[in-house]
Amino acid sequence: MHTNSATASPPLKGCIIVTGASRGIGATIALGLAQAGFDVGCLSRTGDLPHIDNVAADIKQRWHAAKCDVSQGQQLEQAFSEIAKKTGKPLIGLVNNAGIHSQDRIEAITEDEFRRVMDVNAYSVLAASQAIYPHLLNNQGGLIVNIGSFFDKLGIKQHLLYCAAKAAVGAMTRCMAVEWASKGIRALNVAPGYIMTDLNREAMQTGPLAAYLSKRIPGGKPGQAEDVGNLVTSLFVLDSPFMTGETIYIDGAHGMLG
Ligand code: NDP
Repeated sequence: MHTNSATASPPLKGCIIVTGASRGIGATIALGLAQAGFDVGCLSRTGDLPHIDNVAADIKQRWHAAKCDVSQGQQLEQAFSEIAKKTGKPLIGLVNNAGIHSQDRIEAITEDEFRRVMDVNAYSVLAASQAIYPHLLNNQGGLIVNIGSFFDKLGIKQHLLYCAAKAAVGAMTRCMAVEWASKGIRALNVAPGYIMTDLNREAMQTGPLAAYLSKRIPGGKPGQAEDVGNLVTSLFVLDSPFMTGETIYIDGAHGMLG
């Protein structure tokens, strides 16, 4: 008979690092994790705490900001140690969320742009996962959630770089899951479709993009940052040791359209 480990295990305690937590999807993930009782290391280049209004003081107390460029491995190592020291809690997980958008015709993509996008969207996932690895080993395991994109399986005009970087995130997730399974470390790739954040709200609500999305997304509208935040939080709350390596699409079935 199977036992339900989700209900049998005691609640996890510790600190989870979220990269790109100052705004958008990362800020919402940081909110969900803090509401679930975790301490959260909030990384961004500005080192700002999540930009979310009306947050209770006890939730804010669980947020610990640090400045860090995720494309720089050494900065990641320093930020992780700083946060572990500041909270006095073990680092038990990582959400590789920081990412940048990039759009250009294939024939116009420069070597510099290729390296910039791959550094921030793909190398950062490797570097941050390497930096958290000793912490997770100390803790007899943990969970790494990478934020990919449903573009990882699509061919989108003017998005070669972004699609390639997000496909690399899915591939790295599978390899981490296989290579680190014996250490108790799991890896999952959460791949959103169009999600409305402060940055794209206007474009998604008015103009040609809004018209396109209302036709193309089966439910007629984009997702919200909370959709992704709630999913990521539930992955940390659910103690599901056999679930690893998978890409979980959260795109309102947009990526299933023919
Ligand atoms: P935003 O642009 O709203 O936020 C990006 C966050 O990443 C900010 O906190 C920013 O902070 C941080 N960041 C950017 N570059 C770096 C860097 N080099 N080092 C450290 N932090 C950095 O993005 P979204 O919330 O929209 O997207 C978050 C993730 O979700 C990305 O990986 C994106 O590709 C993915 N995604 C988003 C979708 C959407 O529709 N919004 C759809 C599918 C995937 P700061 O500027 O202070 O460094």
